[in-house]
Amino acid sequence: MRQIVKWIRIIALTIACVDCLIMGVKLIDNDFNVLIEAHIVFACLLIQLFCTVYQLLGNKCPYCGRWREMNGAYCPHCGRKIPSSSK
Ligand SMILES: [Zn+2]
Repeated sequence: MRQIVKWIRIIALTIACVDCLIMGVKLIDNDFNVLIEAHIVFACLLIQLFCTVYQLLGNKCPYCGRWREMNGAYCPHCGRKIPSSSK
C-alpha cells in the first residue's frame, strides 16, 4: 500500500510539473486560456496533500500507537522493533 501511495505521489508530481510547463508556454504565447491546466495542477497538488497526510497518519507504531517522525527500525516511544511490513 505504501508503495502505491509513493507512486501516486510521483505521478501526480510529474503531471503537475508537465502541466506547469504547458501553462508557462501558453502564458508566454499570450494565451491566457489556462483554466483547465490550472485545475489539473490544483488537483495534483490536492492528491499530493492527501498522500502526505496518509503517509504521516500511517506512520504509527503498531504497539503503542504513537506517531513516529522517523521511519526507523525501532519505535522512539516504546523502543520496540517495528515489523518491516508496516514500513
Ligand atoms: Zn511504540
